[in-house]
Amino acid sequence: MSAPQVSVIIPVYNEEEGLPALFARLYPALDRLNRDYEVIFINDGSRDRSAALLREQFQQRPDVTRVILLNGNFGQHMAIMAGFEHANGNHVVTLDADLQNPPEEIGKLLEKLDEGYDYIGSIRRLRQDSWWRRKASRAMNWLRERITRVKMTDQGCMMRAYDRAIIDAINRSREVNTFIPALGYTFARNPVEIEVGHEERAAGESKYSLYKLIRLNFDLMTAFSSMPLQMFSLFGMAISVLSALFFVFLMIRRLIVGPEAHGLFTLFAILFFLIGIALFGIGLLGEYVGRIYEQVRRRPRYLVQAVLEQTQE
Ligand code: UDP
Ligand code: MG
Repeated sequence: MSAPQVSVIIPVYNEEEGLPALFARLYPALDRLNRDYEVIFINDGSRDRSAALLREQFQQRPDVTRVILLNGNFGQHMAIMAGFEHANGNHVVTLDADLQNPPEEIGKLLEKLDEGYDYIGSIRRLRQDSWWRRKASRAMNWLRERITRVKMTDQGCMMRAYDRAIIDAINRSREVNTFIPALGYTFARNPVEIEVGHEERAAGESKYSLYKLIRLNFDLMTAFSSMPLQMFSLFGMAISVLSALFFVFLMIRRLIVGPEAHGLFTLFAILFFLIGIALFGIGLLGEYVGRIYEQVRRRPRYLVQAVLEQTQE
């Protein structure tokens, strides 16, 4: 049996309500493409019936379906990572299980890969987001591009396609806490972004809260650049120079004006400001130390409980 042309990777976490609809649209869409394909579902420790539904689907289409059952909840990106390590396809597409990315669009991504691009990002068309949300995500993107050099117009869209070379590079990196599209982008030689359709979540609810979104952006900056640290030390230097000048100024004033206690609150204000910056700096250092800690423990990034696949004769 030869390797399929396309592997479709889908992480699944508590998606029992949406899975039947996904199966009903995904397989016909892939069959229409006329390419050899495999679908790899990764059950990320779902606590509902998702695993059972995946097992049933495997029994229905064992020729093109593989199911990886993880031992617990390791997060969307580690689940995708597990999928990548099992993927045989020459082209690899990632997709969410909630039908927010229509499977009918997979063909468009693959055509772009055929044109010679090795990383196909996607931008959701017709998003019904509020004005300030669009502005906020613009500003976030601008900042991230400056800091990490990762260009990603729409970081919320996981429907992406990668060439084999990028998947191999991702498989070789041992990052623990990562964001797959950004990691893929750093290895891309010839990336491109296209517009894809976007739908409301068909069923179930989003697993991402506002807090998680903020965390994600923080992770993106610290995972793909040490520039925040460098900026912080530059900033610290500037502040120390200013403080030194201020000190000289106060000393001279002491000699000319004599002892005085006015402006005490101004001094406090300056002090609190500096303490704030110092605390932020410690926090920032902590982000990096935390990453180093996770990395040096070298624990397995995910544990596979079982893999459902057809034995290949
Ligand atoms: N997911 C996962 N593990 C998790 C959280 C999410 O595998 O811990 C999967 C989820 O089943 C879905 C995809 O990752 O297929 C994206 O999740 P979700 O739709 O909740 O995110 P959003 O679309 O809101 O960004
Ligand atoms: Mg979603």
